[in-house]
Amino acid sequence: MIQTDHVVYSIDNANILEGISLHVPKGALVGILGPNGSGKSTLLKCIYRVLKPTSGAIFLDGTELSHISPKEAAQKLAVVAQHNFSNFDFTVEEVVLMGRSPYKKALERNTQRDTAIVRESLERVGMENFSKRSFLTLSGGEQQRVILARALAQQTPCLVLDEPTNHLDIKYQLQLMDLIHALDQTVFMALHDLNIAAMYCDKLYVVKKGQLVGEGSPKSLLTPSFIREVYEIDADVMETSTGQLHVLYHPAH
Ligand code: ADP
Ligand code: MG
Repeated sequence: MIQTDHVVYSIDNANILEGISLHVPKGALVGILGPNGSGKSTLLKCIYRVLKPTSGAIFLDGTELSHISPKEAAQKLAVVAQHNFSNFDFTVEEVVLMGRSPYKKALERNTQRDTAIVRESLERVGMENFSKRSFLTLSGGEQQRVILARALAQQTPCLVLDEPTNHLDIKYQLQLMDLIHALDQTVFMALHDLNIAAMYCDKLYVVKKGQLVGEGSPKSLLTPSFIREVYEIDADVMETSTGQLHVLYHPAH
């Protein structure tokens, strides 16, 4: 379970987050939407502790983050960040193995179990044939799947992802979302594609200019008037006979 309570994040007296309170129930797949620059990544960074909120509190399974050691937090929460820049030349296998480090003492050797978990995690994202390849030589989409494998190898109850489908073509977008949907972990993810959000999320939050402007099920939230209010565009929202929601955008001209 992930909970944020009036989280404010300011830089140079500008509020980037203006008091965000939300709740991701255990086992749920919850999405956060909002235009570019609305504060999604900043909120996620506060949750995965790259940033410290100016005020407010964040709870992981009921315990406030500041009361949890970094190592303990890494056993509870895995992250797929938006940008995974790295200049270090690791193999794919080594990158995924890093997911096991929260369970190790300094310089402790990898066990057969670690190796098995790494292999299984790579299989789940369809990257098992790349284990000896240099991470830097992979395409953006392949790198994204390896970073997800690392997060899976971490075997945490909670998973936070920042626009994980960004570099993927449609096949891998759906494959990755199917995989995430099938996890029994608690998942909180920033998304920019309303159709992907509608297809997979149990619940959505929407931020704009650092404020929460909407929350609810995809069906209750994603109406043409709300889409206009948030994204300043016109759209139709259709529902298929199987109950699948589709957002159809109108061109601006
Ligand atoms: P999103 O992920 O929704 O696109 P971000 O959380 O990345 O949005 O950014 C929210 C806003 O905060 C943007 O206007 C961005 O320019 C600003 N911002 C983020 N980090 C910094 C920083 N270190 N210094 C100044 N402004 C920042
Ligand atoms: Mg972002």
